[in-house]
Amino acid sequence: MPQISNRVQTFTDSVIRRMTRISNQYGAINLSQGFPDFDPPKELTEALVRVAANGPHQYSITFGAANLREALARKQGRAIGRPVDPDTEIVVTCGSTEAMMCAMMTVCNPGDKVMVFSPFYENYGADAILSGAEPIYIPLVPPEYDFDIRLVEDGFRQGAKAIIVCNPSNPSGKVFTYEELEVIGRLAVRYDAYVVTDEVYEHLVYAPYKHTYMSALPGMFDHTITCNSLSKTFSITGWRLGYIIGPAEFIEAAKKVHDFLTVGAAAPLQEAATAGLQLGGEYYEGLNKLYQGKRDYLLAGLDQIGLKHNVPQGTYFVMIDIQEFLDMDRFAGWTDLQFCEWLAREIGVAAVPGSSFFREPVNRYIRLHFARSEAVLDAAIDRLAKLKDLA
Ligand code: GLN
Repeated sequence: MPQISNRVQTFTDSVIRRMTRISNQYGAINLSQGFPDFDPPKELTEALVRVAANGPHQYSITFGAANLREALARKQGRAIGRPVDPDTEIVVTCGSTEAMMCAMMTVCNPGDKVMVFSPFYENYGADAILSGAEPIYIPLVPPEYDFDIRLVEDGFRQGAKAIIVCNPSNPSGKVFTYEELEVIGRLAVRYDAYVVTDEVYEHLVYAPYKHTYMSALPGMFDHTITCNSLSKTFSITGWRLGYIIGPAEFIEAAKKVHDFLTVGAAAPLQEAATAGLQLGGEYYEGLNKLYQGKRDYLLAGLDQIGLKHNVPQGTYFVMIDIQEFLDMDRFAGWTDLQFCEWLAREIGVAAVPGSSFFREPVNRYIRLHFARSEAVLDAAIDRLAKLKDLA
């Protein structure tokens, strides 16, 4: 076979998406790849029906349909207390997956350093490789997922061009505080670097924690590249609608990258999603309450069966500590990936091995998500209860 690129030899397929396939293979309850098992708001599905009849069915403008960009600009403008220009400061992408890839390709020359907190959403590793960036990993240390700001400063001193901040953070559920973001932001300004944020879980932050928008901090709009998506906010992960918001000069360049990567996100779906952005504040409050209820429900179930877990401040993920099982003779020498395959096959619950998120050799966590109905979470807890019989 003719040779393929070296680049593709340096990363594996996504373990998150692989776990969904393994889950399907064994008919497990899939708490691995995070996506809801409930429908989007009817405003969106009804709009989709209207769009099917009336269009648009052809390309939208490459950087996003005007009415979607206007609606996104209004929403973000309200959130950060600064008007966002829909023509020059936004590009609509195919999910935040493309947003992050496009942001990285716009920021980085091959060999440029970029800081990534670890554990991290696995796409960032591949994004770095594909854009030629060299990651510098900054540990978020469990169980609190704290970090040492001196390491961030060191990274900037080594010339890092950007730092990726997933806030709220997948998989740890950490919500960065105002103070943490302020220090990171101040360093980015001092070293003339970008903060690239992934804020797809912006509405899934549980009291008393609060979401702080990096781009809202004083002086930070011009240093912040915000990647976001409608997937989680409107339960439309399959629609693949994301966006980047940033300073005009940056967005002008990002539009070119986006255009040649994908031309544009699906025009009918952009049109239908605009209906979601007309929903008022009570929609976002309801979404937050819904997920807070699911989080509390799953955590109570885990406590009942005695599984150790963190308490996520945001996102819809929880990390389970499986060290007590790995210490058993029957699992001696197992990796968390082997444990997750066994869990899907024998217990009937699919999870993501924590090692796919950590740069460090951490092998004691698995990630579950709770974007599921209470009945499904109940069934998962019933199955997971069998783990305790192993003791
Ligand atoms: N962000 C979700 C997760 O981490 C889904 C990721 C994906 O597969 N695009 O599970």
